Amino acid sequence: MLAQAVILEEFNYCAVPFPFANVANILYECKGEQIDRFLRPVIDGDKTTCFAQTEANAGSDPGGMMQTKAVRDGEGWLLNGTKMWISNAFGSDIIMVQAVTDPEKRQRGGITMFVLDRHTPGVNIDPTGLPTWLSGRTSQYIVNFDNVRLGPENVLGEVGKGFSLGQRWLTIHDRLLRGPYALGKMQRALDMSIAWAKQRVTFGKPIADRQAIQWKLVDMHVDITALRSMTYEMAARADAGEDVRAEVAVVKMCAGDWGARTLDHAIQVHRAMGESLELPLTGFYRLLRHAQIGGGTSEIQRVLIARKLLVG
Ligand SMILES: Cc1cc2nc3c(=O)[nH]c(=O)nc-3n(C[C@H](O)[C@H](O)[C@H](O)COP(=O)(O)OP(=O)(O)OC[C@H]3O[C@@H](n4cnc5c(N)ncnc54)[C@H](O)[C@@H]3O)c2cc1C
Repeated sequence: MLAQAVILEEFNYCAVPFPFANVANILYECKGEQIDRFLRPVIDGDKTTCFAQTEANAGSDPGGMMQTKAVRDGEGWLLNGTKMWISNAFGSDIIMVQAVTDPEKRQRGGITMFVLDRHTPGVNIDPTGLPTWLSGRTSQYIVNFDNVRLGPENVLGEVGKGFSLGQRWLTIHDRLLRGPYALGKMQRALDMSIAWAKQRVTFGKPIADRQAIQWKLVDMHVDITALRSMTYEMAARADAGEDVRAEVAVVKMCAGDWGARTLDHAIQVHRAMGESLELPLTGFYRLLRHAQIGGGTSEIQRVLIARKLLVG
């Protein structure tokens, strides 16, 4: 995780997305023939995945509210339900989807993670998707499962253990890595702001000479320095096998909240040009503002941190 964090920070300094094999950590749960079918093509960069947990009425509380279900069908399963806001679903090759398999137990042993080919009969994705302001193209979709027949080979991990597997994906793959995703963009925004502040002259002096501008640069630098140390520390602790769920919630929360305010400062320093689409700042801002919602909102990260503080 530490190596990945360092590399991802560098990738995210660049405004042009660098293509790389994005291997979901839970895909390493693949066993037997699943390895060649689902894991290896993703490592090789030949196939991509999406992660389907959220539903129209199940966002922050997926364990309690999830309606998508899989019922036993001979040796296999019959999957029914609709997921929403699923990133990259239409263009992806492989879907990792959570479904209720025991309504009594739900998140305590009653949710299973399935891994399947996106073109499996019964999987319907409306290509129109759900346009958001996140990027120039639509990348979130509604995914409907209509009597999708799955075999035992489609179970990722163990039956009934899909909720904790999803939490592992969220903690490590999504929340912890939001640290480096934010850091690269924040550092780029600061470097651009320093360069611009030195060159832009108003009332006879560069704006870099004004304390109002200097303090924005300092606040950005402080956020970056603090986020970087906590991200790298949590990555190293995750590598050491520690349970860092609550600690990673701190990284995720700060990446979203501080990331958005750092970009807000950068846009202000750059004034009209800050809003121009010729610069990457508004694009960076949208992605970092989104980090306060996607992967568990900033409020939910605070809930997780409070639970750790009060309950342990
Ligand atoms: C661009 C984008 C991409 C996404 N990609 C994916 C994806 O690939 N896969 C996937 O499964 N999902 C994805 N999502 C869904 C995302 O994870 C959810 O939107 C998010 O978890 C919040 O759920 P919700 O929108 O239903 O909000 P709700 O759960 O309805 O929350 C509404 C508000 O109430 C607050 N709130 C809720 N509960 C509490 C509480 N207990 N205490 C305090 N405040 C609370 C929330 O913080 C929020 O502000 C994506 C969403 C977006 C916008």
